[in-house]
Amino acid sequence: MNTQQPTTGTTQPYWSNCKPGDNDSQRYCQRNRDDLTYWISKLPNDNDTLLIAITTISTRTGLSKHMTERAFQGAAIMKLLPHLRNQVLTWGHLDMRYLAAIDDCLTGVAEEQLKEFDTALTWFFTPEYQDQTLPSITQMKAFIEQLKLKHCPGYGTTGTFIFKHLTIRQGNDGMADLTGVVTKEEGQLITTALDKTAKKYDIDRVDALIKILTEKINVTATLNYWTHDPTKPPTYLDGAGNLIFKETLFNNLPVKHQDLTGIEQEESEHYRPTKRLKTAVRLRDGICRFPDCNKPATTCDIDHVVEFGKNGGKTILSNLQCLCRTHHNLKTDGDLTIFMDHYGICHWHMPNGQVRITTPQGPQAHHPKAAWAQNWKTYRARPKTTDEAKKNFQQQTQEAKTKEESKKPTTPQQPSKDPHKTQPKKPPAPPPKKRKRQNPTTSTRPPKGFSNHNNHTPQWVKDLQNDIKQQQTTKKEKKTSEKDPFPEEPPF
Ligand SMILES: [Zn+2]
Repeated sequence: MNTQQPTTGTTQPYWSNCKPGDNDSQRYCQRNRDDLTYWISKLPNDNDTLLIAITTISTRTGLSKHMTERAFQGAAIMKLLPHLRNQVLTWGHLDMRYLAAIDDCLTGVAEEQLKEFDTALTWFFTPEYQDQTLPSITQMKAFIEQLKLKHCPGYGTTGTFIFKHLTIRQGNDGMADLTGVVTKEEGQLITTALDKTAKKYDIDRVDALIKILTEKINVTATLNYWTHDPTKPPTYLDGAGNLIFKETLFNNLPVKHQDLTGIEQEESEHYRPTKRLKTAVRLRDGICRFPDCNKPATTCDIDHVVEFGKNGGKTILSNLQCLCRTHHNLKTDGDLTIFMDHYGICHWHMPNGQVRITTPQGPQAHHPKAAWAQNWKTYRARPKTTDEAKKNFQQQTQEAKTKEESKKPTTPQQPSKDPHKTQPKKPPAPPPKKRKRQNPTTSTRPPKGFSNHNNHTPQWVKDLQNDIKQQQTTKKEKKTSEKDPFPEEPPF
């Protein structure tokens, strides 16, 4: 089989749209580089009138005024993010749509904070594998949103709610235009209720809405929230992604909890996964696992990566993935093969021999990109003073003690959970902390030229590492507690 390996023989990771030696990839990369250089050179001066600057260019290029303005936006933000700009000018992986979207997302962010966003985005857009799928604009927005929530004081407060509206515009053609802006949570609630009604009566969403309004139908919509800390408000909603607003619908809804502790080892004897397993798969994947597909996990089928009952295909978390109906059918039709590792990283083997890699995007993903991995600098970081070192050592000892103690009560409970099982339990999946690298000699990230080359570890990375640590600790604590932080299973 022709594996279409890059002709340059590189061993560096790269995005699938920057494939070395691939004419299609390279053509667009070059175009992206040229575009950015061009638009930076055309940026208006401080005193230029914006409308005139836009019109001048748009009449000569044939681009719409909107497209011209978007290109200006993208170029302008790249002037403020030098590391990302260099990355784009070198690799050509991001087009002007991405850059304009970055500008949108960074609206209102203080100038002094941009340096940190620059570092974080450069890191986000550094691949770990060869032929890795470039994160979508939606994924990038979610990433920036998370950073803003954490590091931009005042962002995501109730003040933003003033933009909510619902507008019905009567047209001349007998139709009316229905538009509106609601929070993600409200959007998910509306979608769930409409889809559930539509499915029940075999009608479309519009008829479902009319039916609810005119026939006073009772609909129960279940929303699946996620939190890593049961004492805090949820941070993620299945189908809607990361939650921004601190005041959530969640506070006003009746809540049932579901604890996913130990789900990695849970195996169902049947073809159909348990609801608990389904929830875990959706929370790990977040979206359809096919390359470049962004269908939310809520709307996806749960697929056995290795067919159930064949070649050892089991109903277990590490053999289940979210696929939208289209891509589920595509996989079932047969021309694709797929391998998924214990970290939920999918390796898609395309019919032309190309391998595309997709990483899980949900809040339960343990993949470092989703959960913030160490970079080389933080991996090599050492305390500056003896006092710091002492504190670290003491903390490590304490953590080790806690870990040992938390192990004790859980071990004997395991067999009693599944008394019907004829087979002994499979050994647990390896812990996600130390992911086996694809290519240990080259995958230390970020690569040269785009490293976090400040003299200190970026605060972003520090904070997020602390979060991971906290998550892991919370997980362990949960094993011994009776708390159920997870809501009712999804209505699938
Ligand atoms: Zn899909």
